[in-house]
Amino acid sequence: MNAQGPHHQPVHRIRLSLCSHGNPDERPDPDVTTRLVHGDPRMRYYLDYLSNEFTRHYGQHFGHPQFIFLDLPAGYSLWWRPRGNSINNRSGVRNGNFFLWGHPNGQFRSASSFADHIFNTMALNSPICNCGVC
Ligand SMILES: [Zn+2]
Repeated sequence: MNAQGPHHQPVHRIRLSLCSHGNPDERPDPDVTTRLVHGDPRMRYYLDYLSNEFTRHYGQHFGHPQFIFLDLPAGYSLWWRPRGNSINNRSGVRNGNFFLWGHPNGQFRSASSFADHIFNTMALNSPICNCGVC
């Protein structure tokens, strides 16, 4: 999806870091996973994927803007583990699995379920969440 979006589709750039939500003590074993920081293309890849999942599932609720998440919510950290040695042809990043930590119940293995979590807890402020981790 084009980051700018078509002209009729407004773009909402969201700093999730302004939503203090996660627990920084929640993290995986650093011996087998790498923590990703801002500026790493794998971080941008994950945020773009998360943004597109959120837009695809929940954009309609907000009048069809394109959402672009600029960072992770406060207290969250993104970790990565390689899967083989291949490079993704489309993204140019090495193939691997992403793990998002910060939720008190444990990690998010899927950006799609984290998109559900953002919508329910941050957008709707609902006490009920169907993300699969809550
Ligand atoms: Zn949730």
